Amino acid sequence: MSKSVCIITEFRNGDFRRVTNEVASEGRRIADALGVGLVALVLGAGVSGQAASLGKFGVEKAYVLDDPALEHYMADTFVPIAAEMISRIAPVAVLLPASVDGRDLGARLGARLHVTLLQDVIEVRVDDNKKVKAKWPLFAGKCFAWCEWAEGVPPLLSIRPNVMQCLVADENRLAEVEKIDLPVPPSRTRVVKYDLDTSGKVELTEAEVIVSGGRGMKEAANYTIIEELAGVLGAAVGASRAAVDAGWRPHSDQVGQTGKVVNPNLYVAVGISGAIQHLAGMGYSKYIVAVNKDSDAPIFSKADYGIVEDLFKFIPAFTEEVRKLKSSC
Ligand SMILES: Cc1cc2nc3c(=O)[nH]c(=O)nc-3n(C[C@H](O)[C@H](O)[C@H](O)COP(=O)(O)OP(=O)(O)OC[C@H]3O[C@@H](n4cnc5c(N)ncnc54)[C@H](O)[C@@H]3O)c2cc1C
Repeated sequence: MSKSVCIITEFRNGDFRRVTNEVASEGRRIADALGVGLVALVLGAGVSGQAASLGKFGVEKAYVLDDPALEHYMADTFVPIAAEMISRIAPVAVLLPASVDGRDLGARLGARLHVTLLQDVIEVRVDDNKKVKAKWPLFAGKCFAWCEWAEGVPPLLSIRPNVMQCLVADENRLAEVEKIDLPVPPSRTRVVKYDLDTSGKVELTEAEVIVSGGRGMKEAANYTIIEELAGVLGAAVGASRAAVDAGWRPHSDQVGQTGKVVNPNLYVAVGISGAIQHLAGMGYSKYIVAVNKDSDAPIFSKADYGIVEDLFKFIPAFTEEVRKLKSSC
C-alpha cells in the first residue's frame, strides 16, 4: 500500500477494545480526507484470528505479530516493534488510543521517532490544504489548543476514549492480514500476576452512563443508593478523590485528573462539588446531571441539569421513578 494513515490497536481478553474501533473509525475519516489508505499495527497474543475483522471499521491492511510474549503491553517489547514498523510503513499519520498503555506507548514512540505526540486528542480536522490539525486539552481541561505539525512531520496522536464516533460496522469487509517478520525483543520486565476484574462491572472509561458519588455520601455504606441507581440505569459507579481518599471506594473508581478520564453519554454527579481536578476527568461527558444541596456548588456551572436537594432524599426517590418508568416500557 502506498500512503496510509496507521492506527495502533489494543487487544484485551480475546477482542479489540472499544477504543480501537473508535481510533479505526477516526483513522478512516482522516484517511478519506487525505485520500490515502488505512493500515493497523496489531500486536498481542491470540490476535491473528481477529485482525481481519478490523476491516469493518475501514482498516484495509493489518500488520500482525501474534506472540504469547505480547500478551501484556510492555515498553520493552511493544515499542521497538511499533517503531520499526512505523519506519517501514512511513505513514502520513499515526493514531493510537489515549488509554493507560497507549499513552505510554505514544510517548515512547514520539521520543524514538522524533515526532511530537499530541496526547488525549478530542477532535481532528483535515483542512483544505490536507493539513491535519488536532484539538487537545491543556491545564487539566481548563482550555484547549488546536495544533498542527511542521511540514513533513507525520502527526502522532493519541485519541481520548469515548469521544470519536464509531463508523457503522460493515461486517462483510475484512482487512488484508500480513504477518510482521520481526522477533519479539527480550524484555527486562515480566508480568508476574494479572488481576483481572471478574466482577462483571462496566469499565468506567468505556461506560455509557456513570453515577459518581463524592464526599457528600458521608460514608462507604451509603454508596448502596448510588449502586441501586446505577443498577437501574445500567451504569458504572465512579467517585471523587475525596471519596477514594476516605477509603469509601477503590482508586479504580476515581474520576479526575489523578483518576480516570471518562466521556459517557450521561454523568450523574452526586454530592460532588465540582473541583477543577474532578471536572478534568468528566467535563467532556455529553450530559451532566448534578445533585447537590448547595446551589453555589461549581458543578452546577458544568451541569446540563442541576438538582438542588439533599441527595439522601432525591436519589432513592429518583431511582424508584426510573425503575417504574423502565418497567412500564
Ligand atoms: C493534584 C490534585 C489532583 C487531584 N485529582 C483529583 C481527581 O482525580 N479527582 C477528584 O475528584 N479530585 C481530585 N482532586 C481533589 C479535588 O481538588 C477535590 O478536593 C475533590 O474533587 C473534592 O471531592 P468532592 O467533590 O467529593 O468533595 P467536596 O468538595 O467536599 O464536595 C462535597 C459536596 O457534597 C455536597 N453535599 C454534602 N452533603 C450533601 C447532601 N446530603 N446532599 C447533596 N449534596 C451534599 C456539598 O454541598 C459539596 O458540594 C485533586 C486535587 C489535587 C490537588
